[in-house]
Amino acid sequence: MYDLTIIGGGPAGTSAAITAARGGAAVLLLERGRFPRHKVCGEFVSAESLSLLGGLLGSRHGDLLRAAVQIPRARVFVDGRTLETSVDPPAASIARLDLDAALWELAAESGVEARQSTTVQRITGRGPFRVATSEGDFESRALINASGRWSNLSPPPGGESVPRGKWLGLKAHFGEPSPPASVDLYFFEGGYCGVQPVELRSRASLPGRVNACAMVRADVASTLSEVFAQHPALYQRSRHWQPLSEPVSTAPLIFRHPQPERENILLTGDAAGFVDPFVGDGISLALRSGALAAESLAPFVRGGTLLGQSATEYRRNYKRQLGPIFRASSKIRRMLLLPRSVRVPMLFLLESVPAVTRYLVRRTR
Ligand SMILES: Cc1cc2nc3c(=O)[nH]c(=O)nc-3n(C[C@H](O)[C@H](O)[C@H](O)COP(=O)(O)OP(=O)(O)OC[C@H]3O[C@@H](n4cnc5c(N)ncnc54)[C@H](O)[C@@H]3O)c2cc1C
Repeated sequence: MYDLTIIGGGPAGTSAAITAARGGAAVLLLERGRFPRHKVCGEFVSAESLSLLGGLLGSRHGDLLRAAVQIPRARVFVDGRTLETSVDPPAASIARLDLDAALWELAAESGVEARQSTTVQRITGRGPFRVATSEGDFESRALINASGRWSNLSPPPGGESVPRGKWLGLKAHFGEPSPPASVDLYFFEGGYCGVQPVELRSRASLPGRVNACAMVRADVASTLSEVFAQHPALYQRSRHWQPLSEPVSTAPLIFRHPQPERENILLTGDAAGFVDPFVGDGISLALRSGALAAESLAPFVRGGTLLGQSATEYRRNYKRQLGPIFRASSKIRRMLLLPRSVRVPMLFLLESVPAVTRYLVRRTR
Protein backbone atom coordinates (compact mmCIF):
# COMPACT_ATOMS: atom_id res chain seq x y z
CA MET A 1 0.00 0.00 0.00
CA TYR A 2 1.64 3.24 -1.20
CA ASP A 3 0.72 6.59 0.35
CA LEU A 4 0.22 8.06 -3.10
CA THR A 5 -0.10 6.81 -6.69
CA ILE A 6 0.45 9.36 -9.46
CA ILE A 7 -0.66 8.57 -13.01
CA GLY A 8 1.40 10.34 -15.69
CA GLY A 9 5.10 11.29 -15.77
CA GLY A 10 4.82 14.75 -17.42
CA PRO A 11 5.68 17.96 -15.53
CA ALA A 12 2.48 17.76 -13.42
CA GLY A 13 3.06 14.16 -12.30
CA THR A 14 6.78 14.51 -11.62
CA SER A 15 6.35 17.83 -9.78
CA ALA A 16 3.78 16.14 -7.51
CA ALA A 17 5.94 13.03 -7.10
CA ILE A 18 9.15 14.89 -6.20
CA THR A 19 7.32 17.22 -3.78
CA ALA A 20 5.49 14.35 -2.05
CA ALA A 21 8.59 12.12 -1.82
CA ARG A 22 10.68 14.95 -0.38
CA GLY A 23 7.93 15.35 2.22
CA GLY A 24 8.37 11.69 3.24
CA ALA A 25 5.50 10.00 1.34
CA ALA A 26 5.83 6.54 -0.26
CA VAL A 27 5.05 7.40 -3.90
CA LEU A 28 4.35 5.26 -6.98
CA LEU A 29 4.60 7.11 -10.32
CA LEU A 30 3.20 5.36 -13.41
CA GLU A 31 3.90 6.44 -17.00
CA ARG A 32 2.65 4.70 -20.13
CA GLY A 33 5.49 6.01 -22.40
CA ARG A 34 9.27 6.26 -22.04
CA PHE A 35 11.61 9.23 -21.58
CA PRO A 36 13.39 11.01 -23.18
CA ARG A 37 10.92 11.84 -25.95
CA HIS A 38 9.68 14.89 -27.83
CA LYS A 39 6.22 16.18 -26.90
CA VAL A 40 4.01 18.63 -28.78
CA CYS A 41 4.76 21.90 -26.98
CA GLY A 42 5.98 25.44 -27.70
CA GLU A 43 8.60 24.86 -24.93
CA PHE A 44 8.02 28.36 -23.55
CA VAL A 45 8.33 28.10 -19.76
CA SER A 46 6.85 31.22 -18.19
CA ALA A 47 8.73 33.04 -15.44
CA GLU A 48 6.04 32.36 -12.81
CA SER A 49 7.20 28.77 -12.34
CA LEU A 50 10.96 29.15 -12.81
CA SER A 51 11.80 29.32 -9.11
CA LEU A 52 9.60 26.27 -8.42
CA LEU A 53 11.30 24.46 -11.32
CA GLY A 54 14.73 25.51 -10.00
CA GLY A 55 13.81 24.05 -6.58
CA LEU A 56 12.68 20.77 -8.16
CA LEU A 57 15.76 20.47 -10.39
CA GLY A 58 18.15 21.28 -7.51
CA SER A 59 21.88 21.21 -8.12
CA ARG A 60 21.74 17.88 -9.99
CA HIS A 61 19.92 19.30 -13.05
CA GLY A 62 20.16 23.05 -12.28
CA ASP A 63 22.19 23.60 -15.47
CA LEU A 64 19.04 22.92 -17.51
CA LEU A 65 17.60 26.18 -16.21
CA ARG A 66 20.84 28.18 -16.06
CA ALA A 67 21.75 27.32 -19.66
CA ALA A 68 18.21 27.74 -21.05
CA VAL A 69 17.71 30.27 -23.85
CA GLN A 70 16.05 33.38 -22.37
CA ILE A 71 12.94 34.78 -24.09
CA PRO A 72 12.62 38.50 -23.23
CA ARG A 73 10.32 39.45 -26.13
CA ALA A 74 7.12 38.33 -27.86
CA ARG A 75 6.02 39.22 -31.40
CA VAL A 76 2.56 38.52 -32.75
CA PHE A 77 2.14 38.48 -36.55
CA VAL A 78 -1.56 38.75 -37.33
CA ASP A 79 -3.69 40.26 -40.11
CA GLY A 80 -0.60 41.87 -41.68
CA ARG A 81 0.36 43.62 -38.41
CA THR A 82 3.16 42.96 -35.93
CA LEU A 83 2.51 43.50 -32.24
CA GLU A 84 5.62 43.46 -30.11
CA THR A 85 5.89 43.37 -26.36
CA SER A 86 8.48 42.57 -23.72
CA VAL A 87 8.25 39.38 -21.68
CA ASP A 88 9.30 40.68 -18.29
CA PRO A 89 10.67 38.82 -16.39
CA PRO A 90 11.91 36.73 -19.34
CA ALA A 91 10.63 33.21 -19.95
CA ALA A 92 12.92 30.22 -20.50
CA SER A 93 12.95 28.02 -23.58
CA ILE A 94 13.50 24.40 -22.52
CA ALA A 95 13.13 21.39 -24.82
CA ARG A 96 10.57 18.90 -23.49
CA LEU A 97 12.98 16.16 -24.53
CA ASP A 98 15.32 17.40 -21.76
CA LEU A 99 12.81 18.79 -19.25
CA ASP A 100 10.59 15.71 -18.89
CA ALA A 101 13.58 13.35 -18.77
CA ALA A 102 15.34 15.42 -16.07
CA LEU A 103 12.20 15.58 -13.90
CA TRP A 104 11.60 11.85 -14.35
CA GLU A 105 15.17 11.07 -13.30
CA LEU A 106 14.86 13.36 -10.28
CA ALA A 107 11.65 11.68 -9.18
CA ALA A 108 13.42 8.31 -9.16
CA GLU A 109 16.38 9.82 -7.30
CA SER A 110 14.02 11.34 -4.71
CA GLY A 111 12.87 7.85 -3.70
CA VAL A 112 9.76 7.61 -5.90
CA GLU A 113 9.06 4.19 -7.40
CA ALA A 114 8.95 5.40 -11.00
CA ARG A 115 7.70 2.85 -13.57
CA GLN A 116 7.73 3.61 -17.30
CA SER A 117 5.87 1.60 -19.99
CA THR A 118 3.04 1.09 -17.49
CA THR A 119 -0.44 2.11 -18.67
CA VAL A 120 -3.17 2.59 -16.09
CA GLN A 121 -6.32 0.98 -17.41
CA ARG A 122 -8.80 1.44 -14.56
CA ILE A 123 -9.16 3.13 -11.19
CA THR A 124 -11.45 1.83 -8.46
CA GLY A 125 -12.30 3.20 -5.00
CA ARG A 126 -12.63 6.63 -3.44
CA GLY A 127 -9.70 6.23 -1.06
CA PRO A 128 -8.02 3.84 -0.67
CA PHE A 129 -7.63 3.31 -4.45
CA ARG A 130 -6.74 0.35 -6.63
CA VAL A 131 -5.29 0.92 -10.09
CA ALA A 132 -5.25 -1.82 -12.71
CA THR A 133 -2.31 -1.42 -15.11
CA SER A 134 -0.69 -3.25 -18.00
CA GLU A 135 1.92 -4.47 -15.46
CA GLY A 136 -0.39 -5.52 -12.60
CA ASP A 137 -2.50 -3.92 -9.87
CA PHE A 138 -1.37 -1.42 -7.22
CA GLU A 139 -3.00 0.08 -4.12
CA SER A 140 -2.57 3.45 -2.48
CA ARG A 141 -4.22 5.67 0.13
CA ALA A 142 -4.37 8.72 -2.21
CA LEU A 143 -4.34 9.22 -5.98
CA ILE A 144 -3.31 12.01 -8.36
CA ASN A 145 -4.40 11.89 -12.00
CA ALA A 146 -1.73 13.73 -14.03
CA SER A 147 -2.43 11.84 -17.25
CA GLY A 148 -2.61 14.93 -19.43
CA ARG A 149 -5.17 16.60 -21.64
CA TRP A 150 -6.60 13.54 -23.29
CA SER A 151 -6.10 10.00 -22.02
CA ASN A 152 -8.12 6.82 -21.53
CA LEU A 153 -8.83 8.18 -18.02
CA SER A 154 -10.34 11.51 -19.20
CA PRO A 155 -14.10 11.99 -18.97
CA PRO A 156 -15.86 11.88 -22.37
CA PRO A 157 -16.09 15.25 -24.18
CA GLY A 158 -19.00 17.41 -23.09
CA GLY A 159 -19.66 20.77 -21.49
CA GLU A 160 -17.45 23.54 -22.80
CA SER A 161 -15.53 22.28 -25.81
CA VAL A 162 -14.31 25.30 -27.75
CA PRO A 163 -13.05 26.22 -30.25
CA ARG A 164 -15.39 24.24 -32.51
CA GLY A 165 -14.02 21.70 -35.00
CA LYS A 166 -11.18 19.21 -34.70
CA TRP A 167 -7.87 20.84 -33.69
CA LEU A 168 -4.38 19.34 -33.90
CA GLY A 169 -1.05 20.13 -32.28
CA LEU A 170 2.10 19.76 -34.45
CA LYS A 171 5.72 20.35 -33.54
CA ALA A 172 9.32 19.87 -34.74
CA HIS A 173 12.78 21.41 -34.33
CA PHE A 174 14.51 23.09 -37.29
CA GLY A 175 17.91 24.62 -37.97
CA GLU A 176 17.86 28.43 -38.39
CA PRO A 177 21.11 30.42 -38.14
CA SER A 178 20.97 33.07 -35.34
CA PRO A 179 17.24 33.05 -34.54
CA PRO A 180 15.95 36.16 -32.69
CA ALA A 181 15.53 35.81 -28.90
CA SER A 182 11.76 36.12 -29.05
CA VAL A 183 8.68 33.95 -29.11
CA ASP A 184 7.08 34.68 -32.49
CA LEU A 185 3.40 33.82 -32.91
CA TYR A 186 2.07 33.67 -36.47
CA PHE A 187 -1.74 33.73 -36.56
CA PHE A 188 -3.83 32.73 -39.58
CA GLU A 189 -7.48 31.70 -40.17
CA GLY A 190 -7.84 28.35 -38.44
CA GLY A 191 -4.73 28.36 -36.26
CA TYR A 192 -1.38 29.73 -35.26
CA CYS A 193 2.26 28.66 -35.15
CA GLY A 194 4.77 29.66 -32.48
CA VAL A 195 8.52 29.79 -33.24
CA GLN A 196 11.28 30.32 -30.69
CA PRO A 197 14.96 29.46 -30.28
CA VAL A 198 15.74 26.38 -28.20
CA GLU A 199 18.82 24.29 -27.38
CA LEU A 200 19.21 20.63 -26.59
CA ARG A 201 21.31 19.76 -23.54
CA SER A 202 23.40 17.31 -25.54
CA ARG A 203 23.92 19.79 -28.39
CA ALA A 204 24.13 23.09 -26.50
CA SER A 205 27.28 24.13 -28.35
CA LEU A 206 25.52 23.92 -31.74
CA PRO A 207 23.65 27.20 -32.24
CA GLY A 208 20.73 27.85 -34.54
CA ARG A 209 17.82 25.59 -33.50
CA VAL A 210 14.19 26.72 -33.40
CA ASN A 211 11.07 24.96 -32.17
CA ALA A 212 8.03 25.40 -34.41
CA CYS A 213 4.77 24.38 -32.77
CA ALA A 214 1.31 24.86 -34.23
CA MET A 215 -2.27 24.55 -33.13
CA VAL A 216 -4.38 24.20 -36.24
CA ARG A 217 -7.84 23.13 -37.38
CA ALA A 218 -7.63 19.72 -39.04
CA ASP A 219 -9.37 20.96 -42.21
CA VAL A 220 -6.74 23.74 -42.61
CA ALA A 221 -3.49 21.76 -42.26
CA SER A 222 -2.27 18.38 -41.09
CA THR A 223 1.51 18.83 -41.56
CA LEU A 224 3.94 21.57 -40.53
CA SER A 225 4.73 22.48 -44.16
CA GLU A 226 1.00 23.02 -44.74
CA VAL A 227 0.96 25.19 -41.60
CA PHE A 228 3.93 27.28 -42.80
CA ALA A 229 2.14 27.93 -46.11
CA GLN A 230 -0.76 29.60 -44.23
CA HIS A 231 1.22 32.71 -43.28
CA PRO A 232 3.36 34.69 -45.78
CA ALA A 233 6.00 35.83 -43.23
CA LEU A 234 6.26 32.34 -41.71
CA TYR A 235 6.50 30.80 -45.16
CA GLN A 236 9.41 33.10 -46.03
CA ARG A 237 11.15 32.43 -42.72
CA SER A 238 10.79 28.64 -42.91
CA ARG A 239 11.90 28.25 -46.55
CA HIS A 240 15.55 27.55 -45.61
CA TRP A 241 14.96 25.61 -42.39
CA GLN A 242 16.59 22.18 -42.03
CA PRO A 243 14.56 19.59 -40.07
CA LEU A 244 16.42 18.61 -36.88
CA SER A 245 13.79 16.31 -35.36
CA GLU A 246 10.93 14.10 -36.49
CA PRO A 247 7.60 15.96 -36.31
CA VAL A 248 5.23 14.94 -33.50
CA SER A 249 1.49 15.53 -33.36
CA THR A 250 -1.41 15.32 -30.91
CA ALA A 251 -5.20 15.49 -31.08
CA PRO A 252 -7.81 16.41 -30.09
CA LEU A 253 -7.27 19.79 -28.38
CA ILE A 254 -10.29 20.36 -26.15
CA PHE A 255 -10.76 23.20 -23.68
CA ARG A 256 -12.97 22.56 -20.69
CA HIS A 257 -13.69 24.35 -17.44
CA PRO A 258 -10.91 23.32 -15.05
CA GLN A 259 -11.86 20.54 -12.63
CA PRO A 260 -9.13 19.95 -10.02
CA GLU A 261 -10.85 17.17 -8.03
CA ARG A 262 -13.25 14.31 -8.75
CA GLU A 263 -14.37 11.69 -6.21
CA ASN A 264 -11.36 12.32 -3.95
CA ILE A 265 -8.92 12.02 -6.89
CA LEU A 266 -6.77 15.14 -7.30
CA LEU A 267 -6.33 16.21 -10.92
CA THR A 268 -3.24 18.19 -11.90
CA GLY A 269 -1.78 19.80 -15.03
CA ASP A 270 -3.73 19.31 -18.26
CA ALA A 271 -5.84 16.57 -16.64
CA ALA A 272 -7.38 19.31 -14.46
CA GLY A 273 -7.69 21.86 -17.27
CA PHE A 274 -6.04 22.65 -20.60
CA VAL A 275 -5.13 26.31 -20.99
CA ASP A 276 -4.79 27.91 -24.44
CA PRO A 277 -1.28 27.06 -25.67
CA PHE A 278 -0.53 30.60 -26.94
CA VAL A 279 -0.59 31.86 -23.34
CA GLY A 280 2.49 29.70 -22.69
CA ASP A 281 1.39 28.70 -19.19
CA GLY A 282 0.62 24.97 -19.51
CA ILE A 283 3.98 23.76 -18.15
CA SER A 284 3.85 26.34 -15.39
CA LEU A 285 0.31 25.28 -14.43
CA ALA A 286 1.40 21.64 -14.50
CA LEU A 287 4.39 22.24 -12.20
CA ARG A 288 2.43 24.48 -9.84
CA SER A 289 -0.69 22.31 -9.60
CA GLY A 290 1.45 19.18 -9.13
CA ALA A 291 3.33 20.74 -6.20
CA LEU A 292 0.09 22.17 -4.77
CA ALA A 293 -1.64 18.76 -4.90
CA ALA A 294 1.27 17.08 -3.10
CA GLU A 295 1.34 19.82 -0.44
CA SER A 296 -2.44 19.57 0.04
CA LEU A 297 -2.16 15.82 0.58
CA ALA A 298 0.75 16.08 3.07
CA PRO A 299 -1.44 16.39 6.22
CA PHE A 300 -3.48 13.33 5.10
CA VAL A 301 -0.31 11.32 4.41
CA ARG A 302 0.95 12.18 7.93
CA GLY A 303 -2.40 11.01 9.34
CA GLY A 304 -3.59 14.46 10.42
CA THR A 305 -6.73 14.85 8.25
CA LEU A 306 -9.22 12.91 6.15
CA LEU A 307 -8.60 12.51 2.41
CA GLY A 308 -11.78 14.49 1.63
CA GLN A 309 -10.45 17.47 3.61
CA SER A 310 -7.17 17.48 1.66
CA ALA A 311 -9.10 17.23 -1.61
CA THR A 312 -11.32 20.18 -0.65
CA GLU A 313 -8.26 22.22 0.38
CA TYR A 314 -6.62 21.50 -2.99
CA ARG A 315 -9.76 22.46 -4.95
CA ARG A 316 -10.02 25.75 -3.05
CA ASN A 317 -6.33 26.68 -3.51
CA TYR A 318 -6.32 25.63 -7.17
CA LYS A 319 -9.31 27.86 -7.95
CA ARG A 320 -7.83 30.82 -6.06
CA GLN A 321 -4.24 30.57 -7.35
CA LEU A 322 -4.65 29.15 -10.86
CA GLY A 323 -8.28 29.91 -11.86
CA PRO A 324 -7.55 33.52 -13.04
CA ILE A 325 -5.14 32.23 -15.74
CA PHE A 326 -7.97 30.22 -17.37
CA ARG A 327 -10.40 33.15 -17.27
CA ALA A 328 -7.94 35.63 -18.82
CA SER A 329 -6.75 33.26 -21.55
CA SER A 330 -10.27 32.32 -22.64
CA LYS A 331 -11.11 36.06 -23.03
CA ILE A 332 -8.09 36.56 -25.30
CA ARG A 333 -8.95 33.42 -27.28
CA ARG A 334 -12.45 34.80 -27.90
CA MET A 335 -10.91 38.06 -29.13
CA LEU A 336 -8.66 36.26 -31.61
CA LEU A 337 -11.62 34.22 -32.89
CA LEU A 338 -13.74 37.32 -33.55
CA PRO A 339 -14.74 38.01 -37.16
CA ARG A 340 -11.93 39.77 -39.06
CA SER A 341 -14.03 42.96 -39.44
CA VAL A 342 -14.07 43.39 -35.63
CA ARG A 343 -10.59 42.01 -34.97
CA VAL A 344 -8.64 44.26 -37.36
CA PRO A 345 -9.65 47.61 -35.71
CA MET A 346 -8.93 46.04 -32.33
CA LEU A 347 -5.45 44.99 -33.47
CA PHE A 348 -4.91 48.50 -34.85
CA LEU A 349 -5.59 49.83 -31.35
CA LEU A 350 -3.16 47.32 -29.81
CA GLU A 351 -0.48 48.23 -32.34
CA SER A 352 -0.91 51.99 -31.75
CA VAL A 353 -1.04 51.75 -27.95
CA PRO A 354 1.58 49.20 -26.82
CA ALA A 355 0.57 49.76 -23.18
CA VAL A 356 -2.73 47.97 -23.97
CA THR A 357 -0.81 44.97 -25.38
CA ARG A 358 1.41 44.89 -22.28
CA TYR A 359 -1.73 45.03 -20.10
CA LEU A 360 -3.28 42.08 -21.96
CA VAL A 361 -0.09 40.03 -21.63
CA ARG A 362 0.06 40.84 -17.89
CA ARG A 363 -3.58 39.70 -17.50
CA THR A 364 -2.51 36.19 -18.55
CA ARG A 365 0.25 36.07 -15.92
C1 LIG B 1 0.21 22.94 -29.56
C2 LIG B 1 0.61 23.09 -28.12
C3 LIG B 1 1.57 24.03 -27.74
C4 LIG B 1 1.90 24.21 -26.40
N1 LIG B 1 2.85 25.15 -26.06
C5 LIG B 1 3.14 25.36 -24.75
C6 LIG B 1 4.16 26.30 -24.38
O1 LIG B 1 4.83 26.90 -25.19
N2 LIG B 1 4.38 26.50 -23.05
C7 LIG B 1 3.66 25.84 -22.09
O2 LIG B 1 3.88 26.09 -20.91
N3 LIG B 1 2.73 24.92 -22.43
C8 LIG B 1 2.46 24.66 -23.72
N4 LIG B 1 1.55 23.69 -24.07
C9 LIG B 1 0.88 22.96 -23.00
C10 LIG B 1 1.80 21.94 -22.33
O3 LIG B 1 2.36 21.10 -23.30
C11 LIG B 1 0.98 21.14 -21.33
O4 LIG B 1 0.23 22.02 -20.56
C12 LIG B 1 1.87 20.28 -20.42
O5 LIG B 1 2.51 19.27 -21.15
C13 LIG B 1 1.01 19.65 -19.33
O6 LIG B 1 1.77 18.74 -18.59
P1 LIG B 1 1.06 17.49 -17.90
O7 LIG B 1 2.09 16.85 -17.06
O8 LIG B 1 -0.24 17.90 -17.31
O9 LIG B 1 0.65 16.55 -19.13
P2 LIG B 1 1.58 15.75 -20.15
O10 LIG B 1 2.86 16.43 -20.40
O11 LIG B 1 0.68 15.48 -21.32
O12 LIG B 1 1.90 14.39 -19.40
C14 LIG B 1 0.91 13.42 -19.16
C15 LIG B 1 1.60 12.06 -19.13
O13 LIG B 1 0.65 11.08 -18.74
C16 LIG B 1 0.94 9.88 -19.45
N5 LIG B 1 -0.29 9.07 -19.46
C17 LIG B 1 -1.46 9.34 -20.10
N6 LIG B 1 -2.35 8.37 -19.86
C18 LIG B 1 -1.75 7.47 -19.05
C19 LIG B 1 -2.18 6.24 -18.47
N7 LIG B 1 -3.40 5.76 -18.65
N8 LIG B 1 -1.28 5.56 -17.69
C20 LIG B 1 -0.02 6.04 -17.49
N9 LIG B 1 0.43 7.21 -18.02
C21 LIG B 1 -0.43 7.91 -18.78
C22 LIG B 1 1.36 10.39 -20.83
O14 LIG B 1 2.13 9.41 -21.52
C23 LIG B 1 2.12 11.65 -20.49
O15 LIG B 1 3.53 11.45 -20.41
C24 LIG B 1 1.25 23.44 -25.41
C25 LIG B 1 0.32 22.46 -25.79
C26 LIG B 1 0.01 22.27 -27.13
C27 LIG B 1 -0.99 21.21 -27.50
